[in-house]
Amino acid sequence: MKKPSFPLPLPVVKPTRDQLKPGESLCDYCTGKCCRYFSTPIETPTAWDDYDAIRWYLAHELTLVYVHEETWYLLVSSKCQYLLEDYRCAIYHDRPKICREYTTKDCEYDDDWSFDKVFETPEQIWEYAEALLPPRPKPPERRGLGLLPIVTAPS
Ligand code: SF4
Ligand code: SF4
Repeated sequence: MKKPSFPLPLPVVKPTRDQLKPGESLCDYCTGKCCRYFSTPIETPTAWDDYDAIRWYLAHELTLVYVHEETWYLLVSSKCQYLLEDYRCAIYHDRPKICREYTTKDCEYDDDWSFDKVFETPEQIWEYAEALLPPRPKPPERRGLGLLPIVTAPS
């Protein structure tokens, strides 16, 4: 028998939520969208140091920061190591609580990822901060940390 090739092809036309037949699950038509990233709320930035921290988040690959209903979130687009090639969970019966409590009710199956605000690069968040905040105070001069002269040993 020919082995199935992965990733498994999904039906070309995805049903909408209300087109599901009895006994079907949205997950049967999804490539595991919710297992391909995580996002976590972060403090709402108010000062330069807060924006500086976000600039650092965004300096990393596959991150973005978004605002939804006035809450700020850090999103990391990183696939869970337990997502199998057939889009099922390798540890389904022992999956973390956060996964067990997640349902298809409000999931991102048909989400178009529209956010109130989204920042994808350090430059974007810096520009935003510059538009909101007074000029950033210069960091204090660090003394004694300049390059030392090279001293050659006497011959
Ligand atoms: S819960 Fe939603 S996003 Fe996650 S796999 Fe199922 S349908 Fe896809
Ligand atoms: S543990 Fe399973 S359900 Fe949870 S994110 Fe990973 S693949 Fe998805």
